Amino acid sequence: MKRLPTVLSTNSKSLPERGNSCVRVALDVPLPRLFDYAPPIGASVASGDRVTVPLGRRHQTGVVIEEGASELAPDRLKAVIDVRSDAPRLPAQWLELMRFLSTYYQRPLGETVISALPPRLRSLKPLPRKSLNGNPVPASARFMPTHTLTADQASAVEHIAARHGTFAAALLHGVTGSGKTEVYLHLIARVLERGEQALVLVPEISLTPQLEARFREAFPEARLALMHSGLEDVARTTAWLEASRGDARIILGTRLAVLAPLPKLALIVVDEEHDSSFKQQEGLRYSARDAAVYRAKLSSCPVVLGSATPSLETWYNFRQGRYERIELSQRASPGARLPTVRTVDLRADPADQGFCAPVLEAIARRLAPRAQSLVFINRRGYAPVLTCEACGWYAGCERCTGRLVLHAADRRLHCHHCGGQQPIPRGCPTCGNVDLKPMGRGTQRVEETLAARFAGARIVRIDRDSARRRAELSRTLAEIRRGEGDILVGTQILAKGHDFPNLTFVGVLNADTALLSTDYRAAERLYAVLSQVAGRAGRREQPGEVLVQTRYPDHPLFAALARHDFSGFAESQLTERRNAGFPPYVFEAVLRAEAPQLARAMEFLREARALEAPPESVRVSDPVPHVMTRRSGLERAQLVMQSTSRAALQAHLAALSARLFETAARGVRWHLDVDPIEFD
Ligand SMILES: [Zn+2]
Ligand SMILES: [Zn+2]
Repeated sequence: MKRLPTVLSTNSKSLPERGNSCVRVALDVPLPRLFDYAPPIGASVASGDRVTVPLGRRHQTGVVIEEGASELAPDRLKAVIDVRSDAPRLPAQWLELMRFLSTYYQRPLGETVISALPPRLRSLKPLPRKSLNGNPVPASARFMPTHTLTADQASAVEHIAARHGTFAAALLHGVTGSGKTEVYLHLIARVLERGEQALVLVPEISLTPQLEARFREAFPEARLALMHSGLEDVARTTAWLEASRGDARIILGTRLAVLAPLPKLALIVVDEEHDSSFKQQEGLRYSARDAAVYRAKLSSCPVVLGSATPSLETWYNFRQGRYERIELSQRASPGARLPTVRTVDLRADPADQGFCAPVLEAIARRLAPRAQSLVFINRRGYAPVLTCEACGWYAGCERCTGRLVLHAADRRLHCHHCGGQQPIPRGCPTCGNVDLKPMGRGTQRVEETLAARFAGARIVRIDRDSARRRAELSRTLAEIRRGEGDILVGTQILAKGHDFPNLTFVGVLNADTALLSTDYRAAERLYAVLSQVAGRAGRREQPGEVLVQTRYPDHPLFAALARHDFSGFAESQLTERRNAGFPPYVFEAVLRAEAPQLARAMEFLREARALEAPPESVRVSDPVPHVMTRRSGLERAQLVMQSTSRAALQAHLAALSARLFETAARGVRWHLDVDPIEFD
């Protein structure tokens, strides 16, 4: 098997004398190698060019990675059919980013490169002629700030702006409501003045339409490219071309935006950097946050990681002196203070239909003065289980190891793992009992309970089901900001960066499931989501109040939350992680296998474990089935690899991956996940 060349060479003088001159092309083929082709006759070709090449009986779009000398006989070396000129050549720095991602995340370079392109650049069909040059608008740097900066914000801006032209990673650690976005906008204004580009990564753009509006208001004349997976192919390709020509000055997008070529990149912002959606869970399993830091190094520019609750990896990097930390410890709005956070002991105040008395009273107190309340429950649907009390049967998904969630809106059972749906059975399939009972509660049932309790109050539910249509979500959120709606019921979506001026109370219904989780990241995530959702309360003059219903009121996580003491919480978590030998104190990767039968997946992993002996510094676990073993009809198992040395782990993964590609893995699908964050 051909080893991947490690140095990108476009210097033809360094070619060895024997062999036929060729170009090495990245193709969307699941093999860890490039493909040699003879250069086209009468056309010049260079690395970064998109080309059409023959592969087997078909044609494919590929990207030239380098020139070289092929060991194939001249009559076996096929020629490049066409050098595509319908989009700018991919720059060397972009190829370097691809090479890094391919090596670090153990994915063949061809698949990495091709899947990073927008769909229309992967296709064989040329783009319309006008795509190449676009129609540039005169770039204006006019900046319309909406607020004057606080002293903290101003000093954060100056501090980061002073790093212009050099690599620096800065953690912008700002409490909720401290105005991190305002800091980003002022930094971007500096970038636009110089005619450069700023990349802003956010977790989920379609759920935060307000953010896009703020950017457009602040920079009414700048070209802004929006990049996320929800865009149509044409819009996505157009945004990519505008970004790669340097015409788009602000690139606002989800994780995939980090893969766009940006010739004038001078600033990267990763907002809510702790959010798990920055890690891709399929294909190239990259972390957009980590890729952003690498990109900032390549482009010699600052990268700002913003969060009220930084990930422990980022916090650890700050503690190690690799990242600097800039703190915004006060809310930006005059007179606004952080909310009061208290727990309600469910053992002393038992819940009735999900609510304990103090939470209902807190909501009731706000109805007359027309202040808003938010009820947070991180589960959508009506009830998470439909069960038969007579025999113990419950509705499960045939394709997943999971229960079906009852949805009231369409009166169907939904699987939240595979998306499958089915009608509610007339009776218990086991014993025939027709009195099936919904157990537990989700947002829809909470909405129903509140409507019965507070007749006349306007209740607004926001979750993934109600937020399907973006325009509608945008309208609903605007209404809430204007003070319409008395009680909001919602999942994590409501916690994401929204600013509701009239909201003064937040009630959290079910925090305990996360406390009992075996996932070592559960506490970190719970702290982040509670801090975010609590952060919606009291963002103006009116003080905010937060009540968390729990059976474990003495848990240190709640004490830290009440003190707004993220540092203390992070330090105690790091101590636990160090003692238990978890990241960030070790580096981790998993090899996962999926097969119709668990036995085959386990057998594959046992064989894989024996394929390549790990060095002493790398610890390889026994294969174990996933907690949720079956998903979408496949049964899954994994092998965890750990090391205190990133280099040792990387070397072992490279060797193992090469062996796995040589092995015919019959009846099983496998992949490596480096720095995994999901283990279910
Ligand atoms: Zn039954
Ligand atoms: Zn399912």
